Amino acid sequence: MLRIALPNKGRLAEATRELFADAGLEVRGRGDRALTASLGGEFEALFVRAQDVTEFVADGVADAGVTGWDLVSESDRPVDLLLDLEFGHCRLVVAAREESGIRTVADLPADAVTPHRVATSFPRVTRRFFAAAGRAVEVIPVSGAAEVAPHLGIADIVVDLTSTGSTLKVNGLREVATILESTARLITAPRPAPTGERETGPLDELVAALASVLRARGQRYLMANVPRAALDRVKQVVPGLNGPTVIDILDGGSIVAVHAVVPAASVYRTIAALKTLHATGILVTRIERLMP
Ligand code: AMP
Repeated sequence: MLRIALPNKGRLAEATRELFADAGLEVRGRGDRALTASLGGEFEALFVRAQDVTEFVADGVADAGVTGWDLVSESDRPVDLLLDLEFGHCRLVVAAREESGIRTVADLPADAVTPHRVATSFPRVTRRFFAAAGRAVEVIPVSGAAEVAPHLGIADIVVDLTSTGSTLKVNGLREVATILESTARLITAPRPAPTGERETGPLDELVAALASVLRARGQRYLMANVPRAALDRVKQVVPGLNGPTVIDILDGGSIVAVHAVVPAASVYRTIAALKTLHATGILVTRIERLMP
């Protein structure tokens, strides 16, 4: 059995569940408050708080886990990163009260009798950051909502997560520096370096399955009928993974079908370009998995 620690609620829970379901590891028969649930086959989910995932993985209670890179960094436990899961984007930033006059970290004194106070729920990362920057601060650990600390007179600087920056602005705070950028990651306890031929186990299968879904999410499968005479120009528009597949269709030879895998982000441009080459019957579909 491979036990995987997953966030039980909060910002990362839903996207994690979706990714695992897309990879064929759907949560089966989980009661409302059940701690574990089968993911099918030899995989079992262990539902814990995102903050605790690293701990469970580092201690060997779970064989792998999903949580934010910010939380992995703060936990200070050694773990191996297996995969960037590409959701849960946010930044851990230093923000100061607008009126403080602090615009960069360099505006803070290197040593001070009464250093600036920094409220954060990321005390370890924060201490490391200011030590590396050579700035003296007093770190005030809070368990959440650091952005209200300046209103309460607890601190005039905060280190907090943001994705749009709007909560900081609403609270009269100005971003001064980015400490780290975070996304959700798949982690495992440090593994010994492979010696010679390593057997692939269920953990490798899990990584391969999730990676194939992530790869597919950024791509679309495109089909179109194009004039054979335009094929050279079509190939420039749809390079595909190994070049487009070209298929004869039964129209006497002047039209061929092309199939290709194209980046989802630019598929609108690809369609427009194909239209100028007189393509018809353009069809775009999602891909479930992609293994190059
Ligand atoms: P939770 O506290 O359980 O909702 O999960 C918070 C985690 O979600 C953080 O540790 C980040 O990894 C991630 N996250 C993504 N966007 C944001 C955001 N705008 N604010 C806070 N956390 C975020």
